[in-house]
Amino acid sequence: MILPSSLKSEKYWVAGYAGSSEMAFSEDVVKQAWERAGEQCECRKRTHRHFYTPCGKVLVWENRGKVGRGGWEAHHITIDGGDALSNCEILCSNCSGIRPFSTPV
Ligand SMILES: [Zn+2]
Ligand SMILES: [Zn+2]
Repeated sequence: MILPSSLKSEKYWVAGYAGSSEMAFSEDVVKQAWERAGEQCECRKRTHRHFYTPCGKVLVWENRGKVGRGGWEAHHITIDGGDALSNCEILCSNCSGIRPFSTPV
């Protein structure tokens, strides 16, 4: 007695992050940076409107990657600094330059 055996060979293609050189902070790092920043923009660039004081714009966690009030982004301080917490700064959408926008303050 021969039992029919159908052998299916199914291949699973695992989509990896092949060739991705784009840097990205882990959620852990972003959260730590967020807490360090105290839910405020950490920008200290002198070329910005806030000059010698940190921007300090109040941000909203849920508005990550958004533009406008409370919008912010995790930003690399230096290009070759890696994805460590020390190289992560929290910037409001204004300072990170996601998109230039003019909103009367
Ligand atoms: Zn700012
Ligand atoms: Zn700024």
